Amino acid sequence: MSDLFSEQLQVLRAQSLHRKLREIGTAQGPEIQIVGQQLVNFSSNDYLGLANDPLLREAATAAVAEFGVGAGASRLLSGTQSPHVQLETALAKWKGTQAAICFGSGYAAALGTIPALVGRHDVVVLDKLCHASLIDGAKLSGAAIRVFPHHHLGKLESHLDWARRERPEARVLVVTESIFSMEGDRAPLRELVGLKKRFGALLLLDEAHAIGVIGPQGRGLAAKENLTREVDVQMGTLSKGLGVSGGYICGSRSLIDWLVNRARSFIFSTASPPALAAAARAAIEFLGTEAGEQRRQKLWQRIETLRRSMPDNYANDVEPRENGSAIHPLIVGAEETALDLSRSLQNEGFLVPAIRYPTVAKGEARLRITVTAAHEETHIQRLSEAIGRHQSALLTAA
Ligand SMILES: *Cc1c(COP(=O)(O)O)cnc(C)c1O
Repeated sequence: MSDLFSEQLQVLRAQSLHRKLREIGTAQGPEIQIVGQQLVNFSSNDYLGLANDPLLREAATAAVAEFGVGAGASRLLSGTQSPHVQLETALAKWKGTQAAICFGSGYAAALGTIPALVGRHDVVVLDKLCHASLIDGAKLSGAAIRVFPHHHLGKLESHLDWARRERPEARVLVVTESIFSMEGDRAPLRELVGLKKRFGALLLLDEAHAIGVIGPQGRGLAAKENLTREVDVQMGTLSKGLGVSGGYICGSRSLIDWLVNRARSFIFSTASPPALAAAARAAIEFLGTEAGEQRRQKLWQRIETLRRSMPDNYANDVEPRENGSAIHPLIVGAEETALDLSRSLQNEGFLVPAIRYPTVAKGEARLRITVTAAHEETHIQRLSEAIGRHQSALLTAA
């Protein structure tokens, strides 16, 4: 057995696709320590620097003092403690929906929700670059799956047309992200809403990378485009811009009640620790304050700094503000080149992960730079300079 796996691992190494864990000896933040080396961290999705913020730490500590650590059981058995209820009330209010439900993670939210909404007589239509959790949820549902090329509305339309012709009785669910996790670009939400209405489909929008980043009070793309009412299933995570952990779905009261009854990753999993719910609620409340808005504006200043300081030939990859996000892929192509570049940057004190297959397609390896409000201007300028120094090597390799 062990030989079998070591051979398989060897194959991964030979293809530059092997991955390993790196121990971090510090809290998350703009500077972290990995095996003794101090690195400026451009790999985190903690966009507002909330993961180690005193406000959230205090909320969690107070909840530990009152509620202890573990939730003891699944939410339906005995695990629905006040912090969970308060968090869901705050989430629904913040997102402008009737109700909300939280899961142990964003991954669990997708895995529980999609199969609760559609089954084997139904159809799920996804953008090609959707996150693994959405793809896995779709597969688990047993529904027919149709995929359209990234942002390709024409192809989406023909899938919807097919579904309506071939399966007139089927429920059709369109699944997409508002900000794509490895591209950093935004979905054409208005057009998607137009299509889903025309074909009588449901729309699930995963706002994982938009929450805390775009829209009024960081409420995401649907809120920004004033389309909250048109998005049937609003998914997101508490683990990125909100700095904590856990996934959520916001929507109508009946949708949420249905998920309480049918989402297996909710029903058969112990509630997340009440202290995390308290911390997540503190994050949401923070976003509604003046200080929260300032933090979000600071993030956008840092994004702008990256855009301005990147070497000319990459500057185009960094989307302007109206269409941007905190995620900036530097597409390199070959897996080995991406790894080499990531290693060189690490030697110079920067943590910029190489993203490879199966996270992205083979031959589309990239560096994924994420900027946060906690970075200093100089962190970003120094990174851009370092990338500039390596760019000739990069260009000849590409
Ligand atoms: C990270 C992510 C998830 C999963 O959320 P977790 O809370 O980390 O499990 C789901 N969808 C997208 C688009 C993501 O980027």
